[in-house]
Amino acid sequence: MNSPSDHSSIERHALDRTRAPVFRFDNSYARLPEHFYARVPPTPVAEPGLLRLNRPLAEQLGLDADALSTPAGAAILAGNRIPDGAEPIAMAYAGHQYAQFVPSLGDGRAILLGELIDRAGRRRDIHLKGAGRTAFSRMGDGRAALGPVLREYVLGEAMAALGIPTTRALAMVATGEEVYRERIEVGAVLVRVAAGHVRVGTFEYFARRNDTEAVKTLADYVIARHDPDCAEAEQPYQALLEQVVARQAELIAQWMLVGFIHGVMNTDNVAISGETIDYGPCAFMDAFHPQTVYSSIDHFGRYAWDQQPRIGYWNLTQFANSLLPLLGADEDEARQRARAALDRYGKAFERRYYGGLRAKIGLLDARAGDEDLALDLLGRMAAQQADFTNTFRTLGEVSADDPASDAPVRAQFADPSVFDQWAVPWRERLASQARPDSERQAAMRAVNPAYIPRNHRVQQAIDAANDGDLAPLDRLLEVVSRPFAEQPEHVEYRRPPRPDEVVERTFCGT
Ligand code: AMP
Ligand code: MG
Repeated sequence: MNSPSDHSSIERHALDRTRAPVFRFDNSYARLPEHFYARVPPTPVAEPGLLRLNRPLAEQLGLDADALSTPAGAAILAGNRIPDGAEPIAMAYAGHQYAQFVPSLGDGRAILLGELIDRAGRRRDIHLKGAGRTAFSRMGDGRAALGPVLREYVLGEAMAALGIPTTRALAMVATGEEVYRERIEVGAVLVRVAAGHVRVGTFEYFARRNDTEAVKTLADYVIARHDPDCAEAEQPYQALLEQVVARQAELIAQWMLVGFIHGVMNTDNVAISGETIDYGPCAFMDAFHPQTVYSSIDHFGRYAWDQQPRIGYWNLTQFANSLLPLLGADEDEARQRARAALDRYGKAFERRYYGGLRAKIGLLDARAGDEDLALDLLGRMAAQQADFTNTFRTLGEVSADDPASDAPVRAQFADPSVFDQWAVPWRERLASQARPDSERQAAMRAVNPAYIPRNHRVQQAIDAANDGDLAPLDRLLEVVSRPFAEQPEHVEYRRPPRPDEVVERTFCGT
C-alpha cells in the first residue's frame, strides 16, 4: 500500500501531466488603435506535433518547458489552442521590396499571439509564423514549409550564439498538412520570439497614408518599448532615429564580420529593435567573395554581402522619411534633423566594422594602415576563394615567431604565397604591439567563430527533416550553439562543402 506521501507524489505527477502551459501575456500592441492590425485567430492545423522546443529560451521567457512539451502545449504552439490572455493579431505594415514601394504587406502568414515579460524584465513577442491566412495574405496560403522554418530556427540560434541581435525560435511544430510550393512540402509552424516586430515598413504604412497621428502613436510606442531614454531628449523623434541608425549600423557591421548575407533587406524586414529578422534566402558564406548572393530572386545582387552597408543606409532613409512630419516645425527643419541623424550611420558602421576587422586579425589598438591591412587580406581571400570562416579562425592559430604555424591558414588560399606576402606586414604589425602571443590567439578565438551553420549542413538537416529524421538538425544546433569553442568531435562541421554539396541558391521562406 502506498504511504500518504507516495500517494501525494503520484497525484502531483498526474497533475503535472495535465498541467496547461501558462503565459503571462501583456499585449501592448493590441492596445494600439484598431487600424494598426487585424484581429485574427490562428487557423488550426490538422495534427500538431512538437518537433523541437527551445528549452533554454523557454526558461528565459519564464515558460514551463515541460508543460509546453505536452499535447496541450503543442496545440498552443501550433495555433490550435489560444492560451489565456493571448490576443492574436496580424500586424499591418508596408515596405520597399527591391526598392519598389508596396503600400500594404502586413503579417500574411504570421500572427502575434501576445507579449510577455521575460525573466530579465524584457518584453518579448510570441509570434506564430505559418499560422494561417489573415487580412494581409493576398494570394498566399498563410502557411510555412518545414525547410524554411528549420533554416530560421538554426540560423537564429547560431546568430544568437555569435552574440548578434536576432529573433529566435521557441519551437518548431509539425502541422500534419502539406503545403504547395515549387513542389509539395511538409507544413510547419515556427514560434518566433522577438524584442519587437515593428519594422521600418510599419512606419511607412502610416506615413504613406499621411496618417501622421498614427506615425506619432507608433513612434511613441517604440520609444516607450525600446528607447525610453529618447522620451527625455530635447527632440525625442530625432533621438529615436539616431538610436535606430546606431542599431542598424551595429547589426550590419556584425553580419559583415561573420560573412552573413541576409538576402532580403527589404524595409519590411528591418526591425526597429535592431534584431536580425525574417531569415529567408540567407546564408553564411563559405568561400569569400564580396558580391556573393544566395537569394534565387536577387538577380542584380542588390542584397549581396558587400551591398549590405549601403542598403542599410537606404532603408534608414526610408525610416527617416516616414518620421519627417514629427521631426520639425517645417519641412526644412525636419529634413535637417533627419540628415543629422542619418549622417551618423557611416561613422557608426565604420567604427564597428573596422574595429571588428582589427580584432579579427589580432590587433589590439587602432593605428594608421590597419584598415588597409585588413582590406588587403579580404582582397586576397576573394581572389583566392579562401573560406571566410576558416581563414580567420586559422589565422588565430599562427604564432608570430614560427612561420611553420602558418600551414593551416596558408591552406585556405588557392595559392598560399598570396597569404605569405600579406603575412610579412601583418607580422611586423603584431610585433609592434605589446601583447603576448597566447593572449592574442585567445582573443582571436573569441571573435573568429570556428562553427557557422554552413549552407550545405542546413540543407542536409532540411532534407533529413523532410524524411522525418531530426538527428542532423540536433547535431547542427549543438555545434552552432558553441561557435567559438574548439569542438574536436565536430571538426567535420568546419569543412566547406565539397563541389557536390555546394548550395548555390536559397529560396524565400514562402
Ligand atoms: P517575406 O518575404 O517572408 O518577408 O514576406 C513578404 C510578405 O509576403 C509579407 O507580407 C508576408 O506576410 C507575405 N507572405 C509570405 N508568404 C506568405 C504566405 N505563404 N501566405 C501569405 N502571405 C505570405
Ligand atoms: Mg518579411
